[in-house]
Amino acid sequence: MQAFIGLGSNLDNPAQRLISALAALQRLPGGRLLHHSRLFSSAPIGPQDQPDYVNAVAALAWDSTPHALLLTLQALELAAGRQRLRHWGERTLDLDILLIDQQRIDTPDLQVPHPQMIHRAFVLQPLMDIAPAAHLPDGTALSSFLEQVKDQQLSPLEELDCDALIE
Ligand code: ATP
Ligand code: CA
Ligand code: CA
Repeated sequence: MQAFIGLGSNLDNPAQRLISALAALQRLPGGRLLHHSRLFSSAPIGPQDQPDYVNAVAALAWDSTPHALLLTLQALELAAGRQRLRHWGERTLDLDILLIDQQRIDTPDLQVPHPQMIHRAFVLQPLMDIAPAAHLPDGTALSSFLEQVKDQQLSPLEELDCDALIE
C-alpha cells in the first residue's frame, strides 16, 4: 500500500528533526520513502504561545497493515523525545497518517483519511508538492480545499536542500 505521512515539529531544531524523520522513514523495515515535499514553516494552530512549526509530507510504500504503520510512526515520535504536554501543543515530532491508498479507516486509535487534513494548509500545500492529483476516497480532489485555507500563513524553507541532508 501507499501512505501519505504528515510530519511536523516545533521544538529543538525542527527542520533538522524533520530531515532526521525523513531519513528514518527511508530506513524503515517494510517501508520505502517514495517522495517528500519541501519543508514549510507555519504558524501554530491551537495554543499560540508556542514556536512556529516546520511541516512536510512524505509518500511511503508500506508492506504491512495500517495499524502497524501507526505503531511504527509512534515509536519514531517517542524516539524523538515526543511528550504529550497539552492538546495541539509543542512537540519535537508529530507523524500523522494522512491517506492510505483509497482506504477509509474508522477505529478508536486510527482514522484515515486524517479528519483534520482538509482544514490545514500545512498539510495540503506540501501534499500538492508531491501529489497534486491526490484525492479523498470519495474522489474529491484535495486541491479543492486549498481555497478555504489560503489565509493560513505558510512559507517554504528554500534555503534547505533536504535531499542532500537525508542519508
Ligand atoms: P491531530 O490529530 O489533530 O493532528 P495531534 O497530532 O496533536 O492532533 P496526537 O496527540 O499526535 O494528536 O495523536 C492523538 C492520537 O491520534 C494518537 O494516539 C492516535 O492513536 C490517533 N490517531 C487517529 N488517527 C490518526 C492518524 N491518521 N494518524 C496518526 N494518529 C492518529
Ligand atoms: Ca497532527
Ligand atoms: Ca499526531
